[in-house]
Amino acid sequence: MNSKFTEDLKNYIRDIVDFPKKGIIFKDITPLLKNPKTLNLTVELFCEHFKNKKIDKVVSMEARGFIFGSIVAYKLGCGFIPVRKKGKLPYKTVSIEYKLEYGKDILEIHKDAIEKDDNVLIVDDVLATGGTAEAVAKLVEKCGGKVVCLGFLIELTYLNPKQKLKSYNIVSLIKY
Ligand code: AMP
Repeated sequence: MNSKFTEDLKNYIRDIVDFPKKGIIFKDITPLLKNPKTLNLTVELFCEHFKNKKIDKVVSMEARGFIFGSIVAYKLGCGFIPVRKKGKLPYKTVSIEYKLEYGKDILEIHKDAIEKDDNVLIVDDVLATGGTAEAVAKLVEKCGGKVVCLGFLIELTYLNPKQKLKSYNIVSLIKY
């Protein structure tokens, strides 16, 4: 990993204090997305990590995960699969319930999205507490897929997300 490049990317991530609620520092990636150079660099850095991993499918969660997930899938020459909140996918689904800070949520994937033993890469923008990523990894496994790696643009290390993801390979381009 070229740390100079990733330090450069940090200049294009904007902290929004108390969004969407008090106490949260939201990592706004839209400045990085609108700049062709930083968008390209991010995708290239992701692909450098995953190009030799024989990935069959990239799985991402709504909504910002779709941005990088689909570009990375295209660049790696593999399929893209969306994971969505309950009730959004039109066909038969497999679902998983997971805990949020307050309460619970349900994520779904199409029943026929993953073939048995597919090598799956999970991509999202931010790894915070790790709860969402853990749920998506379990969902993929429930469908018979193998989670080869999880890739994030940003990891919030102070929330200790790896605690929940001990059995997985994790790549985070930028750490705070
Ligand atoms: P978590 O389950 O806590 O790891 O949260 C991960 C999901 O919430 C990701 O899909 C992120 O897009 C979003 N998220 C959590 N915390 C932040 C944050 N501080 N800034 C931006 N997005 C966040």
